[in-house]
Order: sequence, then C-alpha cells, then structure tokens
Amino acid sequence: MPDSAAKSPARNPLGSARRVVVKVGSALLVDAATGRLNRSWLETLVEDIVRLRRAGREVLLVSSGAIALGRRHLGLPKGPLRLEESQAAAAVGQIRLAHAYKELLEEREIPVAQVLLTLEDTEQRRRYLNARATLATLLARGAVPVINENDTVATAEIRYGDNDRLAARVAQMVSADCLLLLSDIDGLYTADPNKDDAAQFIPVVQSITPQIEAMGGGSASDVGSGGMATKIAAAKIAVAAGCHLCIAAGAHRHPVRRIEQGARCTWFVRTESPRAARKQWISGTLKPAGALVIDDGALRALKSGKSLLPAGVTRLSGRFDRGDTVSVLTQSGREVARGISAYSDTDAARIIGRRTAEIESVLGFRGRDEMIHRDDLVLQ
Ligand code: GLU
Repeated sequence: MPDSAAKSPARNPLGSARRVVVKVGSALLVDAATGRLNRSWLETLVEDIVRLRRAGREVLLVSSGAIALGRRHLGLPKGPLRLEESQAAAAVGQIRLAHAYKELLEEREIPVAQVLLTLEDTEQRRRYLNARATLATLLARGAVPVINENDTVATAEIRYGDNDRLAARVAQMVSADCLLLLSDIDGLYTADPNKDDAAQFIPVVQSITPQIEAMGGGSASDVGSGGMATKIAAAKIAVAAGCHLCIAAGAHRHPVRRIEQGARCTWFVRTESPRAARKQWISGTLKPAGALVIDDGALRALKSGKSLLPAGVTRLSGRFDRGDTVSVLTQSGREVARGISAYSDTDAARIIGRRTAEIESVLGFRGRDEMIHRDDLVLQ
C-alpha cells in the first residue's frame, strides 16, 4: 500500500460538514439499456439530500445526465457523438433532468435552482465572483442549486467535458467542506480492478502524490465521460481548496446515506479548512494589483476582525479590477493586510472616504457594502 494511504479515516468527514456538494454521474441517473431516467433511484438520492438538510447541512448538486437523457429523444445512435450532437442532446436532456429534480425536491418543499456553468464562469474572476454570489444567495434562501455544464454553448476548447472537475470548482467556489463523487466505481484502486486481479483498494489518500496520480486510468463507463483521471484531477482542486473529496459507488439506493454509514469509499483528505485555504491563497498572491491606504480607525477595525469599509480608505494606487488582490497599507506605507477588492480602482476611487449608504448614489449601482469583506481579508 502506498505511503500516502492510511487504513481508514479517523472520522467520517461528512459527519461534521456544513456545506456538501454531491456530484451525480450519468451512469447512475440514466439506464444504459433504455436511455431513461432511473427515477426510483433518484428518489432515494433526493431523500438523502433532505436528510442532510435536516441535519443542518447545505447541499449543492452537480448533476450529469443531460446528454445521456437527451440522445434517445433525438434518435441519436449509441456510441460517441459529434460535439454538435452532444450539445443538441444536452439541450433536450437538460430540461428533463431539471424537471425531475424540480418535481422530486419541491414535493419535499425544497426550492430548486438550475445553474448552468461554463469553464469560463469558473476561471474568469469576475464571472467566478458573480456565480459565487448567486450560489451563496441561493443557499442562504434554502434552495438546492442543481448545477451542470452549459453544454449547449461550451465549445470544444472551453469545455470541461466532465462534471468531476466542474464539481470540484463549484466546491471551491462555495467553500464546501465535502464533495461526494457518486460514480459507478466504489473508489480508488492501485490499478483498474476490472483488468487487474491484484488491484488493491485505497480507502484514504492523505496526499496526492505522483504515485496516486498514476492510478487514474481511462473511463470504464459508456454513459459518463469522467474516468478515474478526472476524479483525481478533481481531488487535487478540492483538497487544495480545503474540501474533503469522496469517490463512492452511487448505484445503490440511498447512496449518500451509505457513505454516512461507512460504506466502502475513498476519501481524499483535506489538510486545512476552506477558510484557511482561501486565506492562504490570498496572502500568497505574489504581486498585489494595487494598494489601499487606510486610517487608524479602519486599522483598529481590521485588527478586531471586521471588514474594510470605503469610509476607512484614504488613498489608493495601482490598476485593479473587482476580485483582484490588493495590499492594505497604513498611512506610513506599512502593509498590514491583503484582501480581495470588491471594487475596481476606478469605482473604489469614487467611494473612498464615503459612508456605505452613499455607495449607490455615487456609483449608480448597488455594490457590496464593504471594500474588502472580512472573509476575503488576511492580516499580514
Ligand atoms: N454535462 C454532461 C451531461 O450532463 C455530463 C458530463 C459528464 O459526464 O461528466 O450530460
């Protein structure tokens, strides 16, 4: 067994998670023989989600299955599709998928939100921030976001193509504690267990070494597109963002409850919390795009854990956009903090020194109350 793998996790990370992303693969949702939705299975998944929420957890779903569901309705043949065919199939399948989730969740009085994302939405900072704010609002309002790639508009070059990595980006975006990849395989093996009898199961991965990465082979499934390689890539993103990731077999009824009850699965264990990971990322920015100079009152506020308000900023320098990292300096030029600016330099220049209530009348739109929110701020 590789050094990086231990016997079993000390505690099931799901037990203490506050925010959970559940990724559902196409092979689970869609019956390979008939091309129809596995509705009775989906009901058990939805019941699991309701249970998680009753236990005080927030849940986001990343669901595949649009292409697999849609192809039958367009009479597309089995086997690989051309890009435009999968996009057309996704357009047909996504409606059905969303409808099924809506029916099942709303029966249990949980509002459902459909969110379709592209690679650019998760890679470009401004779009990333918008998507993040929308997801946070949905969760705060008690909705379950059901997320998929926006397959119909994503071109070959800007496609994720697999929802494993998309789910990891979503987990990072919302600072989730756990990401469950429900799949047609029960976890990570030293080799492909379908081909190699000597393949050993790995219950816990403490660190993703090159040896672990080498264990990702191609995809064994006909309906989904993610193989073990994309799951390991997803694990790297998730763990770096402070999120535990679990690869588990999802085909059984109540697949999430089974994980809670300790069914066999592989946990990639995070080393720090999402908050710590995010803060480390902010303070590790090599070259902040600009600087905000603050007064003594603001400095005291920051030291007591508060956000930086426009009123406390006296000057600024540099060119930065909303979402860029900036330095926070004292009047004498000493760097006291770094953080993510909620405003571009041009907008910031217009609101510094002003009260938060004045922001809207000065800028003509209602932005954030804070110049840097305390969650986005790290004292140096
Ligand atoms: N977005 C694709 C769909 O909904 C699935 C991608 C994947 O298999 O991971 O059909």
